[in-house]
Amino acid sequence: MNKLPDINAVRELFATPKRIVILSHRNPDGDAIGASLALRGYLELDGHEVQVVFPSDWPAMYGFLKGVHDIVIYDRERERALNAVKNAQIIFLLDLNSIDRVDEMGPAVIQSSAPRLLIDHHLEPEDIADWSLSDSSASSTSELLYEFLRMLGETHRLTKDIAEALFTGIITDTGSFKFSTNPRVFRICAELKEKGVDDYRLQNLIYNSLTEKQLKLIGHCLANRLELLTEYRTGIIHLTQEDFKEFGIGRGDTEGIVNYILMVRNMRIAAFITDQNNVIKLSFRSKGNISVQELAREYFGGGGHRNAAGGSSKKSLQEVIHEFKQILPVYLEKQGFLTVT
Ligand code: 5GP
Ligand code: MN
Repeated sequence: MNKLPDINAVRELFATPKRIVILSHRNPDGDAIGASLALRGYLELDGHEVQVVFPSDWPAMYGFLKGVHDIVIYDRERERALNAVKNAQIIFLLDLNSIDRVDEMGPAVIQSSAPRLLIDHHLEPEDIADWSLSDSSASSTSELLYEFLRMLGETHRLTKDIAEALFTGIITDTGSFKFSTNPRVFRICAELKEKGVDDYRLQNLIYNSLTEKQLKLIGHCLANRLELLTEYRTGIIHLTQEDFKEFGIGRGDTEGIVNYILMVRNMRIAAFITDQNNVIKLSFRSKGNISVQELAREYFGGGGHRNAAGGSSKKSLQEVIHEFKQILPVYLEKQGFLTVT
């Protein structure tokens, strides 16, 4: 059973300086990075020794966030990452709902006797923590972290750097306040702005920061790799390993491309399918009531949210695209969305 944080017990845990590890998911996004750095910033105010550890590297565009360069990346420094987990006296799990999201660090986390706290907004959280603040109606983990700090009565202590990290998480997980919003998130942003957040600067850093090769890659995707299955109101963009080589791109460079598909009138499902070093990664988006979470979970070993989910496959790129096209009508029918033409 997931248990809500016992605030008095948490306060007691934090009462003396501890070694604390903050873990988040592979391919960290703005929310994972922002929430992790904000939490570290807060904990360091009280002299805790805090290490943020991610399974894989963060996209270069987040280089402006204070402290981001000190994050330990498991793919680069395995020993250091594992030692940090093993020596931790408290472990935070942020923006993830299952232990496989921390990849090979999972066993070390489970074996550790340190108390575990999970803060997350994905659907169907696994029971992997002593305390869980898990709410899929929240826009972002950053929003929930702010609520957690409010429960502790600590929001008045947040610095501008901490506020900017949280604001970054909220901007990125709501696509600049276009989706997953709620009244609470606007109130939180108002409070963060009162702490000195320059949201115009953040929006500019986040959304006007493409490199030339990224912009050209978008052009390539739209001109040569977009396939619209109009009868299913679904679009697919795929990228081959050769595309990755030709454009000299890494994983983070493709963030956001999937959203272009939903800009087409009447589209309701978007699939971005990429061949990345022998694993095919699938990124799904949908509009409205139609869920892509079950699609990711049932067929591609993944998960996520109703309107944004992802998974992976060990088959070949062509096989995965073919499989997706086969599944689509069956899935849409099951969801009650298939209109007979
Ligand atoms: P993205 O498409 O931006 O990579 O991910 C969208 C959402 O789906 C994120 O909230 C992310 O947590 C979730 N997601 C993406 N890939 C996976 C995956 O392989 N496994 C699981 N469980 N969730 C994923
Ligand atoms: Mn998130």
